[in-house]
Amino acid sequence: MLTRPLFIGSEIFRGSSYGRWHPLRVPRVSTVMDLARALDWLPAEAFLTAPRAKPKALHIWHDPDYIAALQRVEETQHATPDDTARYDIGSVTNPVFPEIFRRPATAAGGSLLAGELLARGGVIYNPAGGTHHGMRGRANGFCYLNDPVLAMLSLRHHGVRRIAYVDIDAHHCDGVATGFHGDRDCLMISVHEERLWPRTGPIDDDAGGSAVNLPVPRGLNDSEMALIRDDLILPKVRAFRPDAIVFLCGADGVEEDPLAHLSLSNNAHWALLRALMGLAPRLLVLGGGGYNPWSVGRLWTGVWGTLTGQHVPDRLPPRAEAVLRGLRFDGNRRGKNPPEHWFTTLRDAPRDGPVRDEVKRRVHRLQRRAPYPPAAARMS
Ligand SMILES: [Zn+2]
Repeated sequence: MLTRPLFIGSEIFRGSSYGRWHPLRVPRVSTVMDLARALDWLPAEAFLTAPRAKPKALHIWHDPDYIAALQRVEETQHATPDDTARYDIGSVTNPVFPEIFRRPATAAGGSLLAGELLARGGVIYNPAGGTHHGMRGRANGFCYLNDPVLAMLSLRHHGVRRIAYVDIDAHHCDGVATGFHGDRDCLMISVHEERLWPRTGPIDDDAGGSAVNLPVPRGLNDSEMALIRDDLILPKVRAFRPDAIVFLCGADGVEEDPLAHLSLSNNAHWALLRALMGLAPRLLVLGGGGYNPWSVGRLWTGVWGTLTGQHVPDRLPPRAEAVLRGLRFDGNRRGKNPPEHWFTTLRDAPRDGPVRDEVKRRVHRLQRRAPYPPAAARMS
């Protein structure tokens, strides 16, 4: 069993960009590493460098021809029309960029390693992970691989059976849903903005009995997320009695994110994480979406602080502030005149508000849906 939470990261994420106009031009994981170190929250003993996954390891879920195509495109830095048609590589969404294989293979390598290290219990954070749209044989929604699926298969390979997957990224986890559709030892809970791409995961889609999908209206606030947490997510996870929890903590549900329209503060993410801690002997926390460099850096650093029981200071020390002041958000109006608190704090002001009837109704509808009994109970 791991004696302390581990942070899996890599320098490959520093300076890597999907291109000048792509939402993933902003630094994310490197900010979290820098901020956590500036706060003295990340001693060398807690940090592991993610290994790059070998193609063969990726074949446990991904199609070999697709992996070979990714490697070839990285080498040539060119996607053929056939690559775009078959694999969606080289599209506007999933562009060719210098580390098009190495970067996702490193995020995936971290998640595969996490599955192995968690076999005997513990807590691991891989903020580069969370590419929940990746499909078996093609890129999808900025995701070339699907490291959450690989992490869960890695857990299974190392003897961990029942997995609760909780995803509060603003987008529905369509790739993970295809990977574990109908798997009775997996409970996938997704809270996502309704009518947002990929527009999958409606409330009546239970992925063959394996999923609880809660689409939420625009403007979701902290009070509404607290209700979802206490009346839906925690009871469902507890009743499932998981051997492991995989928590995808996408940062695009916060008010300042440019791609989604929810209104959470980072308190909502940290509070859910705190509540999930201890509900299973194994916890893997992954990143996900998040396209405002300040929101992502602050939220995901707070995730590590939560996992390691740190006190979040009201005002950041100068070294941490300097990390945030060093960020740029070119090509977005939010980068022109960032508010002071994006530089000086980690914690957002809470964004409480009225709990709308439509949110209550949907939560109660999903509450009433009976869970599948554990596989062992069904066999007897
Ligand atoms: Zn997202």
